[in-house]
Amino acid sequence: MYDFTYQRASSVADATTKYKAASDARFLAGGMTLLAVLKQRLDQPSDVVDLADVKDLVGIAEEGGAIVIRAMTTHNTVATSDIVKKRIPALAELAGTIGDPMVRNRGTIGGSLANSDPAASYPSAVLALNATIHTDKRTIKADDFFQGMFTTALEAGELITKVSFPIPEQAGYEYFPNPASRYPIVGAFVAKGKDGVRVAITGAGPCAFRLPEYEKALAGGLDPKKLEGLKASAEGLNTDIHASAEYRAHLINVMARRAIGG
Ligand SMILES: Cc1cc2nc3c(=O)[nH]c(=O)nc-3n(C[C@H](O)[C@H](O)[C@H](O)COP(=O)(O)OP(=O)(O)OC[C@H]3O[C@@H](n4cnc5c(N)ncnc54)[C@H](O)[C@@H]3O)c2cc1C
Repeated sequence: MYDFTYQRASSVADATTKYKAASDARFLAGGMTLLAVLKQRLDQPSDVVDLADVKDLVGIAEEGGAIVIRAMTTHNTVATSDIVKKRIPALAELAGTIGDPMVRNRGTIGGSLANSDPAASYPSAVLALNATIHTDKRTIKADDFFQGMFTTALEAGELITKVSFPIPEQAGYEYFPNPASRYPIVGAFVAKGKDGVRVAITGAGPCAFRLPEYEKALAGGLDPKKLEGLKASAEGLNTDIHASAEYRAHLINVMARRAIGG
């Protein structure tokens, strides 16, 4: 690990002020990705601004037909939240599948989305539920947020404050886990809400993406039989030591059907 200046922020404004005052800062959430990156000397920030004391960044509430989850809320808190389990059970289930107990107790929704790992679980839910990402500067629709591998619409120093998930009529999530890390090799989140049916895939490509053909097939209702025979193209999908692009394309259909009970 290279040397850096460690700072603790007391509020959102304090965090962004400290970030701007530093020459090359990083925000620290639960450290589940950032600490590993720093330990491996893959990054060399001048300052690390810890968000752990920012009370405004923690909590879950139901507000105007949506579940609002603040950025520093851990995966375990989402997985065990009575409001999330009641209003969007598939989202609580997804949070409960992330990593292992240590990762779920430290990792946060804000850190996960800012990182935009191609295999991260939340992006599929954010896209399928048509969530809105709130930052200290603006709101960003899910469709505009994920831009590529580890790349989002966030600008340098822009802080995610909360994520607002419209409550769907129906939703389901299924994933095929990497047996070692538990990250999805492919995960599918399917939701039916006031914006129609949305199907989003994670793990398969450089970042989470929607499947318009699947959404069209399910427009009349979330019946897994309507997905039988549909294929996903392997073009542009990831190939690595865990799975080929062709295998991931195959898993997309299987996971999408299972997400809705098939
Ligand atoms: C063994 C292991 C298994 C895992 N398995 C899974 C899995 O199955 N599914 C899955 O989805 N994830 C998985 N993860 C990732 C984990 O869920 C964390 O969410 C992820 O690593 C981010 O960690 P964090 O929230 O602690 O953020 P950090 O590591 O602290 O930060 C990550 C990045 O986000 C930035 N950041 C943090 N918070 C904010 C914010 N509010 N606004 C703007 N930028 C911010 C940081 O500057 C940094 O660049 C796994 C991780 C590990 C170590």
